[in-house]
Amino acid sequence: MSETATTIEAPKLTHNEVIKAAVPTLAGNIAATMALGTDQFSADDQQFTKFHGIYQQDDRDLRKTQKKFIMMIRGRIPGGVMTPAQWITFDDLATTYGNNTLRITTRQSIQFHGVVMAGLGPLVKKINESLLSTLAACGDVNRNITASPTPVQISARAEMMEDCHRVVAALAPKTKAYHSIWIDNVQLKLDDAENKDFVDPLYGATYLPRKFKTGFVLPPVNDMDIFINDLGFIAIVENGKVVGYNLCVGGGMGRSHGNEATFPRLADVIGYLPKAHVVDVAKAVLMIHRDFGDRADRKHARLKYVVEERGVDFIREEVNKRAGIELAPAREYKFTATGDVYGWHKALDGSWFFTLFVETGRVKEAKKLALRHIAEKFTGVEFRLTGNQNVLIANVAESDKAAVNALLAEHGVKTDDQASVLHAASMACPALPTCGLALAESERMLPGLVDRIEKLCAEVGLAGEEIIIRSTGCPNGCARPYMAEIAFVGKSPGRYQLWLGGNTSGTRLNRVFKDVVKDPEIEAELRPLLSRFAKERNKGERFGDWCDRTVLNEQPAAQN
Ligand code: SF4
Repeated sequence: MSETATTIEAPKLTHNEVIKAAVPTLAGNIAATMALGTDQFSADDQQFTKFHGIYQQDDRDLRKTQKKFIMMIRGRIPGGVMTPAQWITFDDLATTYGNNTLRITTRQSIQFHGVVMAGLGPLVKKINESLLSTLAACGDVNRNITASPTPVQISARAEMMEDCHRVVAALAPKTKAYHSIWIDNVQLKLDDAENKDFVDPLYGATYLPRKFKTGFVLPPVNDMDIFINDLGFIAIVENGKVVGYNLCVGGGMGRSHGNEATFPRLADVIGYLPKAHVVDVAKAVLMIHRDFGDRADRKHARLKYVVEERGVDFIREEVNKRAGIELAPAREYKFTATGDVYGWHKALDGSWFFTLFVETGRVKEAKKLALRHIAEKFTGVEFRLTGNQNVLIANVAESDKAAVNALLAEHGVKTDDQASVLHAASMACPALPTCGLALAESERMLPGLVDRIEKLCAEVGLAGEEIIIRSTGCPNGCARPYMAEIAFVGKSPGRYQLWLGGNTSGTRLNRVFKDVVKDPEIEAELRPLLSRFAKERNKGERFGDWCDRTVLNEQPAAQN
C-alpha cells in the first residue's frame, strides 16, 4: 500500500477574487482612466466600477456596425424613498446625461441608461450632492435595501424604515475610494498608509463572493417579494408597533440555462428576533455569506447555495453565534398579495397617496413631465419607488389632491383604470439594447406580448382575468420571473423558456413548463392551457394555482 500523501488542492479562485484582494479599496484605475478622456474602462476596472454602481455596456442595437460604449448607473435609494428635490435631480440627470428616461428597478432604485464616459463623473457627483449615492448599488456587497412603500400601518412602517436605515449604514462598504473618485475627482493614493493597508472592517479584503440582497416587508402585503432575498426581515407588528422580525435567509432568483447546479430558491424563515438585534443579525448573515460562499465559481456563489447545502440548522446556529442571540421560533404572519394598489387611496393619517402605473418601469414622455411638475409644485410629498417598478406619491395633503389630479390630467396621465389588469400585473427587465447579458428581448417585447395574451384571454372567456406575467432577457431573473404565474425567460433571440405556476402571495416558485417556445408560437402554446383553465378552474382559482395543481403535474419535467 502506497504511503505517499495525497494533497487536496484548494479550488482556484475566480479572477474577481484575485483583483479584489489586490485592491481592497476598490479604487482600481477608475479616476485615472476618466481623466484620460477615453470612452471605456479596462476589463478589471469594469469589475471595480460595479461596486460604485456602474456597469459598462455597449449599445447592442449598434453592435453590428460599431461598438458604442455606454454606462448604466444605478442609484442606491433605501426603500425607494426620494424627496421631490431628489426626483428633480434624477430627472435632470436623465435628460442631460442619459437617454431621457428614468428606469425604475425591481429593487426600488433608478437606473440611468446610455450615459457616455464624459457624463459619468458629473452624473454620479450630482447624485451625491442630492444626498443619495450609487455606492454598492452593484458589486459583491449588500445592494440597495428594499422596504414596503405603501402607507398603510403608517407608524409601523416608519419604525421599519428606521431599522432599514440602520442596516443600510451598517452594511455599507467603508472604502474612501468612492468619495475620492466621484466627489474629489482624484485617483486614491494607494501609497498613503491608510489606503495601503485598508481592509473593510465588515467585508474583509475580498468582500463577498457575489451580490447580497436585503429586504424589509410589512405583512400582509408582500410587495417586496421578500423570499427572493438573501436576507429578509418580515415585520411583526403588535398594537401598531414593530416588536421584531421573522428572519428569512437564502432566497435568490438567478440561474443559468442548462446548469442544474444553479436554481431559483425561496428563502427559509429561520426564526424571530426582537428589533433591537436587527443590525447584529444582518451582519451575521452577511458574514456567513462572506465566509462560506463559493469563491471558485461565481455562478454558484450566492448565499442560497450555502443554505441549501449546509441546511437551515447550520445557518441558525451560525447566526446565533455571530449575533450573540438565540433566535426564537418564527411568529405568525400572513401574506395576501404582491402587487401595488393603483390610483388614489387615503392613508390612516388622513393624507392621500397615489400609485402611478409605469409600464415596464420606464418613466418617459408625459409621465416623466407630470412627475417632474408634481415634484416642483408639491414639495411636501414623498416619491416612493415600488418593487413592482411603479411610482407612489405619498403624503399628499387633502387640500392638494385635486391640484395633483389636475396636473396629471393636464399631461394626459390617467388616475383611474390606468392599465388593463394584465398590463398592471406585468413586469420586465431592461434586457436589449443595454444589458450585456441579454439573450432575448424583454422590456421592448413584453407590452406587445401582454396585448396578445389579453386577446387570447378574451377569446377563451377570460377577459379581465388577472394573471401575473413577467419576462426577462436571460435566466438571471432581474424581474423575478420565477415568482410569476406566467414567465418568459430569454434563451436566444425570439425564443423563451416558459415557466408557469407562481402565486399571488409570492410564496411559491413557478416551474419550467416548456424549454423553448418561439415568440410567434406563444399563443398556440398558451391557448389550450387558458382554455382548459377557463373550463376546469375551481371557483376563484387563479391561473398560477391551477397550473400548479394540474398541468405541471401531468407532464415530465421540462429541462431546467
Ligand atoms: Fe439583463 Fe438578464 Fe437582468 Fe434582464 S435578467 S436585465 S437580461 S441580466
